[in-house]
Amino acid sequence: MNAVAERYAHLVLALGQHDPDYVDAFYGPAEWKTQAEKEKKSLDAIGAEAAELIAALAKTPIAGDDLLQLRREYLQKQVAALAARVRMLKGEKLKFDDESRALYDAIAPTFPDSHFDHIIAQLEAKIPGKRPLWERYEMWRKPFVIPKEKLDTVFQLAIKECRARTLTHVALPPNESFAVEYVTNKPWGGYNWYKGNFHSVIQVNTDLPTFIDRAVDLAAHEGYPGHHVYNSLLEKNLVHDRGWVELSVYALFSPQSLVAEGTANFGRDVVFPTKTERMKFEKEVLFPAAGIDASRADEYYAVQDLMKQLDYATNKAARRLINGAIDESAAVQWLQKYAVMEPARAQQRVKFIQRYRSYVINYNLGEDMVRRYIEKRSGADPEKRWSEFGKLLSSPRLPSGLQ
Ligand SMILES: [Zn+2]
Repeated sequence: MNAVAERYAHLVLALGQHDPDYVDAFYGPAEWKTQAEKEKKSLDAIGAEAAELIAALAKTPIAGDDLLQLRREYLQKQVAALAARVRMLKGEKLKFDDESRALYDAIAPTFPDSHFDHIIAQLEAKIPGKRPLWERYEMWRKPFVIPKEKLDTVFQLAIKECRARTLTHVALPPNESFAVEYVTNKPWGGYNWYKGNFHSVIQVNTDLPTFIDRAVDLAAHEGYPGHHVYNSLLEKNLVHDRGWVELSVYALFSPQSLVAEGTANFGRDVVFPTKTERMKFEKEVLFPAAGIDASRADEYYAVQDLMKQLDYATNKAARRLINGAIDESAAVQWLQKYAVMEPARAQQRVKFIQRYRSYVINYNLGEDMVRRYIEKRSGADPEKRWSEFGKLLSSPRLPSGLQ
């Protein structure tokens, strides 16, 4: 399997020559990357090699533990997704759900508009008025913006807390670290660039106002116990200890992304096992550091909890936009209504959808799948939740294995 794994890693790097977003991280031998640049294999050659790898994997016998079984499944699914991405780059048009199954090994449920109407009615009751709901929501939440000059202080406090909590449950390499950078003009809100050797650079996009809930979200999602921890544990346990080179490269448009985004989102509820615990920290530390009235924290998060239930509205807008059922401006309008987004935020989201397409399901569907998988094994026991979560972060498990 090691030989196939190495060929897979080379193939991901080769495809990266055709698709600048494809290789999200690589920390294997640097000469592999220069080799890919020099060879610049054609899409046809990459597709043919992927087919060879799939055939080779089918013939590879498995002996040993469950992790080895997972390894073969991982390679099979990741190579199949790579082959699908090659076909897309050659011009094949896939419908949204077909694409998400091919690339992310999952399909998001479709909800009727009435599903969102029901949640929106509850928001209407909390923020009454005559103007469109997105406008009222923007007005209402203005007092919860983190002032730009306090952004880094607030983020660093959230990171420190999430890191300390994570370290009491997960053994991380002693030299792990990450840096935060503030950037503008990006289609995403935050991004973790994993550099290898247990180091991440986290970029935060400050194009739009940043609200107080982003602090814990960002710290948990990008950092602890989210992307940074996931990547560090894969590097330590699988790349270093077992020599599994396929994990030293991370293909963005692949099933692994659903597990990465799903664990990163669910991480907030692992690091703060109860809402009471999180609210205590928010009220005592984050709200005061941001200069925001902590007595309104419960009111703020009651609305945020409802907003979170609208996450599937973004999936729906993306599905309709990618399938050609609506155009860009209709998607912006639809998001204003059903995801309660102001125009600038709706436009940023549409830009994200146009670039990353069905990737959007990885966040909310990924979170729901990871939550079900972990809770089935741990119940309400927070210690068990940490251990199951740590196990998942140290394995090459993919979406269809989250049963
Ligand atoms: Zn993420």
